[in-house]
Amino acid sequence: MKITGINVWQLDLPLTKPYWLSGGRLKFEKLDSTLVRIDTDDGISGWGEGCPWGHTYLPAHGPGTRAGIATLAPALIGADPCALDEINWIMDVQLPGHPYAKSPLDMACWDIFGKATGMPLWRLLGAARPEAVPVNSSISTGTPEEMIALINAAAESGYTVHSAKIGGTDTAADIARIEAISAALPDGHSVTFDVNRAWTPATAIQVLNSVAARDWIEQPCETLQQCAHVASRVPQPILLDECLHDFEDHLTAWRQRACEGIKLKPNRVGGLTRARSIRDFGIAAGWRMHIEDVGGTVLADTAAIHLATATRPEYRLASWLCHYHLAVDPMPGQGARNSNGLVTPPDLPGIGVEPDGDALGPAMAAYR
Ligand code: MG
Repeated sequence: MKITGINVWQLDLPLTKPYWLSGGRLKFEKLDSTLVRIDTDDGISGWGEGCPWGHTYLPAHGPGTRAGIATLAPALIGADPCALDEINWIMDVQLPGHPYAKSPLDMACWDIFGKATGMPLWRLLGAARPEAVPVNSSISTGTPEEMIALINAAAESGYTVHSAKIGGTDTAADIARIEAISAALPDGHSVTFDVNRAWTPATAIQVLNSVAARDWIEQPCETLQQCAHVASRVPQPILLDECLHDFEDHLTAWRQRACEGIKLKPNRVGGLTRARSIRDFGIAAGWRMHIEDVGGTVLADTAAIHLATATRPEYRLASWLCHYHLAVDPMPGQGARNSNGLVTPPDLPGIGVEPDGDALGPAMAAYR
């Protein structure tokens, strides 16, 4: 099988309401997503999506995704989409780095691989059956009362795992948020406090040694080195997210004992192929993992949920679904949907989400 064409669409994805991170220094109102459809000489087509969370969250942005695809596409025409390692090797030779631009292409090739073999991705990724994965809520920064109200509303929708966004320069406010939320958590629920790199190491050490809470703390500081420094001086388990970009970062995190868990996001690390290697390393390291994508429609969400369900529950925590934050749903009813706090990937060949090409309108770019 050979790749004969790569088609690209740009999608604006407005959020249902503005979303604040990192103590209020980062605000998000709309995501810039890129959909790709890869066509083959067998008549099978595969879909992928690359959607950074705005352009302030990671070194990734929507226009960069499309510029990267324009650079990569000519080298992929004629390649075998089912030879995933070869596809990734071609992309890495053609354009070092830029993992977020490679992810939608890798994802579309996995979709083709699944359709060609008649298997859903969860099966290709090693699962015996598609077990339901817990979905975590995502609680925007606010006062303790506002955040507890959001957690209680999420609990009514079946969520039992929560990600509460904290961080900022007001140390007392963060101590108050952590203590109030941890104490108010419904029985059997768990919370991760996601700092989104807002603290200096000194602030992290001060705050985390002042609170009684022993919940997970995510990405307390900007860099891996800073987080490793903090991890050795605080009593809470540390989860890393934004500072991990490639396999070597994960190796360094393990060597430096910087974390007990990670957020594994295909778009951040270059696609499902790279994410699968990191997932395997995470299991060897004994880490707990949240497996989800950086952002996007139900297409990107579903691709990540296939990898989550193919990861044994001892090693995963929960998965977040971006599409519940969007005011639009371009693939209504399809893919991985929240069912009372749990999500199960489809049993269809490939990713199991088929965007309507006619509804998307003409492609903004087509490479042949
Ligand atoms: Mg995070």
